[in-house]
This record gives sequence, C-alpha cells and structure tokens, in this order.
Amino acid sequence: MNPIDYLRISLIDRCNFRCQYCMPEGTELKYLLRQEWLTRSEILLLLREVFIPLGFTKFRLTGGEPLLRLEIVDLVGDIAALPETEDLALTTNAFYLGKMAQDLYDAGLRRINISLDSLDRETFDKIIGNRGKSRWQQTWDGIQTAYKVGFDPLKINVVVIPGLNDREVPDLAALTRDRHWHVRFIEFMPIGNANLFGDRAWIPSEELRQTIREKWGLESAAVKGNGPADIFKIPGAKGTLGFISQMSECFCDRCNRVRLSADGCLRPCLLNETGQIDLKTSLRQGIPTHQLRERVRDLLALKSEINFKERNSGTAGEKYAKTMSQIGG
Ligand code: SAM
Ligand code: SF4
Repeated sequence: MNPIDYLRISLIDRCNFRCQYCMPEGTELKYLLRQEWLTRSEILLLLREVFIPLGFTKFRLTGGEPLLRLEIVDLVGDIAALPETEDLALTTNAFYLGKMAQDLYDAGLRRINISLDSLDRETFDKIIGNRGKSRWQQTWDGIQTAYKVGFDPLKINVVVIPGLNDREVPDLAALTRDRHWHVRFIEFMPIGNANLFGDRAWIPSEELRQTIREKWGLESAAVKGNGPADIFKIPGAKGTLGFISQMSECFCDRCNRVRLSADGCLRPCLLNETGQIDLKTSLRQGIPTHQLRERVRDLLALKSEINFKERNSGTAGEKYAKTMSQIGG
C-alpha cells in the first residue's frame, strides 16, 4: 500500500471566481463563518502533533481561493519552517498572485499550481463566471510574475469542458514548448454541480493526447513521485504535459493523500465522506492531540477500503454532493 504522507489543507471555502465546473453562479453555497475556519495556530498544532508524527511530510494549501486568506504568507512561513516539511505547495487561481508571489516565495514556498482554463479572454471570463471587466490579463500577469520570481515547478491546471475550452487544448499544450511549465489537463468531475454539464461532460485524456499527438507529437516522460498525473512531453519541449484522468481511469491504488477542509474535517477520499473526522470540534472540546492522532491513524488504516472506486454507478449528483471549493480541491 502507498504510504499516506500528503495532506491537502483547505484554508477557505470562498472564492473570488465562480468557475462553472466548481461553484457555478446560481448555485447557493452556504459559506462557513470565519470562526468556523481552523485558525493558524490550530492548523500548526494539528500538523505538529497529529499529522507529522504519523509520517506526513508533504503539504498543499488550497481552497476555495487560498490567497483570500489574510494569513496566507505567515502560514506558508510557518509550514515551510517545520523541519519535517519536505514539500510545500499552493493551488491558486493566480488573480492576486502578481502582488503576492514574491512574499510567498520569500516565506519559503517553491511549488505552485495555477488554474488557467483558457488563453482567450472571453472564454476565460465565461468559465470563471465574470461579467465585468475581463479578469484574464491580471490572472496571466500573476502567472508571469510567479514564473519570474522563480517558482519551479510551475504547474498550470486546465479542466477541459466539451464545447467550452476543448478546442484550445493544443494551444494550451504549446505553452510548454518554450517554457519550463507543466500543463496538466484534468477530466471534469461531476461533483457538486452534476447536472450543469450532464453526466458525461468530461473528455477522456486519451482523446486529448490524440489531438496533441496529431498537432505536435507526444512522447512519454519520466514520472516522479506518486501524483495522479500521467506525464508526457511534446518532443523538444522545455516543459511537460500531465493528464489527470480520474473519470476514465481509477488511480485510487496510488493515492497518497487526505484532505483537511477549512472547517477542520479530515476527509480520507475526495469522492467519499465515509469516516470523516471533525478535528476542529474535537480540538475545541479539549480532546488531547494524542487521542486525535490515534483516530487519524485508524482512519488511514481504512483508507484503501474507503477510496471511492465506482466512477460509473448511480447519478453523479447523488454521489458527490459537495463542490470542489467546499472540499478543498
Ligand atoms: N482556487 C484555486 C484554483 O482554482 O486553483 C484552488 C482551489 S480549486 C477547487 C483546485 C482545483 O480543483 C483547480 O485546479 C480546479 O480546476 C479543480 N476543480 C474544481 N472543480 C473541479 C471539477 N468539478 N472537476 C475537476 N477539477 C475541478
Ligand atoms: Fe474558485 Fe478555484 Fe473553484 Fe475556480 S476552481 S471557483 S478559482 S475555487
């Protein structure tokens, strides 16, 4: 069994974008109150006394939009300074990255994943649910700043939606030809918003690879670590292409991660709430951290059974009630 050593920490369930595939406009989301969020010191306490003693060494800060959390730079500094931290990363929509990239880097962050679903302003604004002044340029500038500041690897996440941005796949892939970027195509998951695009609104990664192969050529590239992406490369390109195929393939067997939501619930599997532990309430009730550690240890032992492997049964809406922004993508 894979060691489970990677914790994704959602810092906030709110976002300044309303991506159609994540938290589409019109869906009523019940946001957490600020006092329901794990505080900075609670996060650190859980890392030091629960997760690190259980072998966790890799951490990712996410959301919602994590750059909306005011203490983000301090939190990065805190986690980067823990001697056990081997890897610290952040996932962001990059809208505020232009003004924050240097501070995040100086605080110790080196790895960043950025969502960018289109190179076309109109399509981009449509996907992120923006009706005012285009937000594309500020997002693109944020990405450029992060690149200049030295984030390496810099990964670009693209959720591919048929009829929205699928025709841009070759152009997005071409970003890797002269940049050390890693562009990753993610199959849309009908979670929390199942009826929006219908049940089969995802394009199998192999179809995307075929499109890229025909235009640029494609070769397999060495894979490092236990991540969910299958890695390829356009011949001669500086960067790589990743394909995250959670709908067309099941990679549960190589899953090394669990998720902590902004309100402190530990979730063993993205697609299954079974076994979830409310760590924040337990902490605030005064339950000692060594007891919480035992509960988490028991949950981790069950993870391979809890992992949700049935992609194609039932309707998506029944299966995955929460949105990615609420779970912490
Ligand atoms: N706001 C940040 C961002 O967009 O990068 C971080 C949080 S977001 C929930 C994390 C990742 O989840 C993003 O890469 C986003 O594209 C992905 N995501 C959200 N909803 C998704 C869905 N329904 N299917 C597949 N990926 C999704
Ligand atoms: Fe916000 Fe990220 Fe969800 Fe888009 S994918 S709505 S940027 S949390």
